[in-house]
Amino acid sequence: MSDAIRELARGGEVVIVGGGLAGLFCALKLAPRPATVISAAPLGKGASTAWAQGGIAAALARGDSAEAHAADTIAAGAGLVDEDIAISLAREAAGRIDDLLRYGVPFDRDLEGRLALGREAAHSARRIVHVRGDMAGQAIIAALTQAVRESPSIRVIEGFVAEALLVEDNAVTGLRVRRLDDVTARPVTISASAVVMATGGIGYLYAATTNPQEASGLGLAIAARAGAVIADPEFVQFHPTAIMIGRDPAPLATEALRGEGATLINNRGERFMTARHPLAELAPRDIVARGVFAEIAAGRGAFLDARQALGKRFAEKFPTVYASCLAGGIDPAKQPIPIAPAAHYHMGGIAVDARGRSSIHRLWAGGEVSSTGAHGANRLASNSLLEAVVFAARIAEDIAGSSISQPAGLLGEQPVPRNCALPARSAHNLRTMMSSHVGVIRDGKHLAAAVRAFAALERDTGNIALRNMATTALLVAASAFGRRESRGAHHRSDYPAENKALARRTMTTLEKARQIAGELDETRRNTAQPMIA
Ligand SMILES: Cc1cc2nc3c(=O)[nH]c(=O)nc-3n(C[C@H](O)[C@H](O)[C@H](O)COP(=O)(O)OP(=O)(O)OC[C@H]3O[C@@H](n4cnc5c(N)ncnc54)[C@H](O)[C@@H]3O)c2cc1C
Repeated sequence: MSDAIRELARGGEVVIVGGGLAGLFCALKLAPRPATVISAAPLGKGASTAWAQGGIAAALARGDSAEAHAADTIAAGAGLVDEDIAISLAREAAGRIDDLLRYGVPFDRDLEGRLALGREAAHSARRIVHVRGDMAGQAIIAALTQAVRESPSIRVIEGFVAEALLVEDNAVTGLRVRRLDDVTARPVTISASAVVMATGGIGYLYAATTNPQEASGLGLAIAARAGAVIADPEFVQFHPTAIMIGRDPAPLATEALRGEGATLINNRGERFMTARHPLAELAPRDIVARGVFAEIAAGRGAFLDARQALGKRFAEKFPTVYASCLAGGIDPAKQPIPIAPAAHYHMGGIAVDARGRSSIHRLWAGGEVSSTGAHGANRLASNSLLEAVVFAARIAEDIAGSSISQPAGLLGEQPVPRNCALPARSAHNLRTMMSSHVGVIRDGKHLAAAVRAFAALERDTGNIALRNMATTALLVAASAFGRRESRGAHHRSDYPAENKALARRTMTTLEKARQIAGELDETRRNTAQPMIA
């Protein structure tokens, strides 16, 4: 057993799972109250936070207001945003940006020393704080990692993955974790009277994604398996311009390129977005993603063409994207960049209230793994980092006000079977099916097939990591099957219109998802049976 994990026996009441923005910010806000952060990847790695290019939305400009920010958030969310959450999120933004500055995040400033504010699509004002252009994520994670490492009350345990929550009478009692780099290691059980789930998103459940491998929905799965209510799992945002150069995950070609005049063309050189939306390439993200998807599905391919708009200026203006292209053998100053939509952000997650509390007693969730109601059916750009800090702070405050007495400690090694490595082929098949059946454009037939396949996998596999991936995949597919309309990021070719009567959030459980799978199996058995007169 590792010394790091043995150290847990020394106590520490709160266990935070995840070392991205939500997890680290929560630990810092809890200080000097002891907290233990468990992270699958070493801090600074394996977290979407580190890859964020845009920044954080905050209504700080003269003439801007929290109300205007909330109105933009509500408009983007296609009828499903919780309006109280949206307005309170926007109001708390300034305070959390101040906190980040205190923790050492070097946000860009203008010539007068005020925070420089950038503009992003669907925001009605300049309101994005950023760092050195497109380096916000890296700078945030670097500053918070340093602040956490210097904080004596925070213990960090890296290289351990949480694989199950222990729950008695709907209250958390502990957590089962396992070493990542040793496939023969037995899982270790930790007692904990408060667990904060901050494990990030689910993008890596898809074959095409911009998310790190750690974003494979494990936190959502273990909460769901413990009985937690899951909200809006069907809503997955796809980024329209992931660069297709054979890298997994795919590098991102930022939206700012289209803002600079880069166009979207097919392999005949035709601009296909002009026929689809009056704003063409600058249409909302989900519409562009569907346009790109349709072009690829029709066999015409999709490319981002910056030859005219940027040409030789490309390398200087977009060094990160330029480097990614060159590494893939593309010179974007001279060649169109091959692109495809890729899973980017999960609006759904563990359902939480305004304090970050889940439906399981003493289980909180913050950041992308949670669903607060702030994003509805579609996230407004740069609101996710904001939501992560606002809710991480609320969770810390709520925990501080709760009576949590039992210290965390080691319960011992589990006699459950040793793990074996994630079966690569099965994981690959799951990811491929998520992209092809539960992707940008969905329909009942393919969703039903996916629901049945994921339900069978989560029931039958003996591999815990694969089972957790299948659990989250099942929740996404079953809710997408159940939502018979198109809304925000969820698009059904068999129900292409929004249905006003369905303008409510999904609240579901693993039990309900399994039930949907059971009914589909039943229907298939019945329809397959020959009629006997
Ligand atoms: C390329 C890219 C660009 C983006 N740009 C922006 C942007 O400009 N603005 C914006 O607002 N949002 C942006 N987003 C979204 C935003 O980055 C994320 O929503 C946010 O960072 C999520 O933070 P988090 O703390 O919830 O999760 P993460 O930062 O993903 O951290 C999750 C942590 O949990 C750990 N973990 C996962 N599973 C387990 C487990 N089972 N056990 C133990 N540890 C586990 C991981 O190792 C990691 O430490 C972007 C996302 C991507 C991928």
